[in-house]
Amino acid sequence: MTMGFDVAVVGAGISGSATAYELALRGHKVVLIDQYGPAAMASGWTLAGVRQSGRHLAEVPLAKRAVELWQDLAERLDGSTHYRQVGNLRCARDEGEVQRIRAVVAEHEEAGLEMKLLEGAAVRDAVPVVSERVLAASFCPSDGHADPSATVGAFVAAGERHGVVTRFGERVEGIEVRAGGSKSVRTSAGRYDVSQVVLATGVHGNELIAPFDLRVPFEVMSATMLRSVSTPGEPLPVIGVANGDTTLRQEVGGEFRFGGGHETWDGQAQYDPRPQVRPTTDSVLRILESVRSLVPMMANVRVDKVWCGLIDQTVDALPVIDVLPEAGGLVLATGFSGHGFCLGPVTGQILADLAEGRATELPIDPFRLSRFNSHRGHSTPVELHG
Ligand SMILES: Cc1cc2nc3c(=O)[nH]c(=O)nc-3n(C[C@H](O)[C@H](O)[C@H](O)COP(=O)(O)OP(=O)(O)OC[C@H]3O[C@@H](n4cnc5c(N)ncnc54)[C@H](O)[C@@H]3O)c2cc1C
Repeated sequence: MTMGFDVAVVGAGISGSATAYELALRGHKVVLIDQYGPAAMASGWTLAGVRQSGRHLAEVPLAKRAVELWQDLAERLDGSTHYRQVGNLRCARDEGEVQRIRAVVAEHEEAGLEMKLLEGAAVRDAVPVVSERVLAASFCPSDGHADPSATVGAFVAAGERHGVVTRFGERVEGIEVRAGGSKSVRTSAGRYDVSQVVLATGVHGNELIAPFDLRVPFEVMSATMLRSVSTPGEPLPVIGVANGDTTLRQEVGGEFRFGGGHETWDGQAQYDPRPQVRPTTDSVLRILESVRSLVPMMANVRVDKVWCGLIDQTVDALPVIDVLPEAGGLVLATGFSGHGFCLGPVTGQILADLAEGRATELPIDPFRLSRFNSHRGHSTPVELHG
């Protein structure tokens, strides 16, 4: 069966669900397609830190706008996001990390982000659970965290109320660009005739553009996460470290989500009914040891769940957010390199602008696919610090 829509959005993670909602709000007829369902991949596996601090400066304007949008997102969606603006503490455990934290604070203050440098006892005065081995930390009070599945669910539900048609459990197998620019999206269940396609397909970002001879240079990394049972206590900021190898946040129900670091994914996963990647014992042991050393009381929390998330890590750790003329003007967002959850609400607005054929007011030049044409191939480490 062939059906007509203005826009097909492929991928119901935070990027795609926010885009579908935004386009429907602007009056477009939208179909949102996902091979599994909402938040089935990175947007469900994530730590879900909502952070501006510690980002590449090219991403800071987007992250700042995203944080403005997070403030009343739940009200606008008439749903739950469990967003909490509790701040972000980034700790230094040795002199090298102290230098790094100082540089981050200076650079971000210059970019107009309010940050504090805490040294020595001031770190524990601010956040008493942090280990005495922490020498200094940056604190960004306007950072925070949110619940990823609730937020994606709220975008999908709000989109549906504005007319988005959802097709979950349906895999997009190919996109055909016709003379004149209209497109046909072929799925495992049918075909959609559309004017525009937005691909927000995460680690699968290259599959549907490969037939157009296009490729985003990213490597798929796996990152282990753990979740504790509900553990009472005072609300904490998101806590991490300068090199991103340890990070934790406490969900609104009291459960700690923690992890950090990553390794090249070996391709092993189970896919029924949703993709699941099992962590190695080594990665779990490393995180248990590092989190206990950073926040000693974590030794006593009870672990409930363990999983791995997959990350689309580009060589410069920046995403691709672009229109692809070589592919009939398809709109693509992928390669978020472990930072894309916070950006979700603003990514949705930018992708909606691009799908409408308009320039977006946010500075997205650094995220063009063509930047890789001249890339020298060095790789920037991914930092999962939420
Ligand atoms: C462990 C971990 C920790 C992280 N921590 C943070 C953090 O603290 N802060 C932060 O900002 N970011 C963080 N991130 C990154 C963030 O979660 C991701 O960048 C973001 O969720 C990406 O969202 P997305 O919608 O672009 O992609 P995804 O959520 O991956 O969604 C892509 C969707 O596309 C669908 N799809 C793909 N191909 C097809 C097809 N052919 N047909 C139909 N459907 C298809 C998939 O099923 C999937 O649901 C973390 C990620 C991980 C894994």
